[in-house]
Amino acid sequence: MANSIDQSSRGTVDPTIIKAENLWFKDCGLVIRSGNIVFRVSGEILAAKSSVFQDMLRMPQPRGGETFDGCAVVCLPDDPRDTTVFLRVIFDSEFFEPYPAKTGFDTIHGVLRLSNKYLVDYLRRRALIHLSCRFPTTLDGWMSATPTSWTIEPDLLIPVINLAREVSALWILPAVFYSLCINTPHHFGALARGVPFPRHRRPPRAARPRDRPRGLPRAARFPERLPGCMTSARCYAARSAERKYREGLQYQLGYRPLELWGDAEWRQLPPTICTPCVEGMKGMHYQAIQNFWDDLPAKYRLPCWEDLEQMKDVALL
Ligand SMILES: [Zn+2]
Repeated sequence: MANSIDQSSRGTVDPTIIKAENLWFKDCGLVIRSGNIVFRVSGEILAAKSSVFQDMLRMPQPRGGETFDGCAVVCLPDDPRDTTVFLRVIFDSEFFEPYPAKTGFDTIHGVLRLSNKYLVDYLRRRALIHLSCRFPTTLDGWMSATPTSWTIEPDLLIPVINLAREVSALWILPAVFYSLCINTPHHFGALARGVPFPRHRRPPRAARPRDRPRGLPRAARFPERLPGCMTSARCYAARSAERKYREGLQYQLGYRPLELWGDAEWRQLPPTICTPCVEGMKGMHYQAIQNFWDDLPAKYRLPCWEDLEQMKDVALL
């Protein structure tokens, strides 16, 4: 519904102003304007949740200041989409429930940006837990199917990186950068050509092509002799063939070292590879991808996992 802002000092009218659906409470006396959307809400509830709003609303209204339907207007410079989500969460407790309740990236984005800016700690923590659930800080977390509360498309990875930078959630970045490398090689070409990204899709500072991990993982390079091998010559030939096949797949499917050998691949190994060698290969492979994972933050010039974990603990606990 269109409505007009009365600017009592000048009597100007803005016909493009829209009242926010579900956030227009007639018994409340504060109007918030964000872009061309107005929200009528309780200033007292906002002040109780956010010390920044408390200070802002304590300041006397300037004479001749903007009013709407007779209420004082506070203008926020934030994106109206973020403001809508943030206020919805403040005034509707069921709209954004704690993990593992389902939510979406736009909601996480709005809540996290504005709760970080306006110091609403419980919402900041809740949004960070939702954001972090998709980007583990351990290899076991990456390899296991941890329940997630929101879905992600490759095009959201750059907005996720920008959001993490803005709110200092650096612990998710190694996994996000790795996801970006394996899912969206086209982004690197676009970044290199300086193609601009819409809205909050600016190119992340640390996701330049040179950050992409290079070289084949040692996981695929099994040695000639493995301890306990029962049929050394035949078994070695089979292991070599398998290794070459896997290395070839890397070129066909893209560079995905953590996904190179999954449970299905281990089950499909030819029977000419003896059981002790299969176990030896699994152990060597797991150690190799663990080393790869341990080095991941350094590949993207981020703090080490230990420091990232500490940041995460401080922010989430
Ligand atoms: Zn063997």
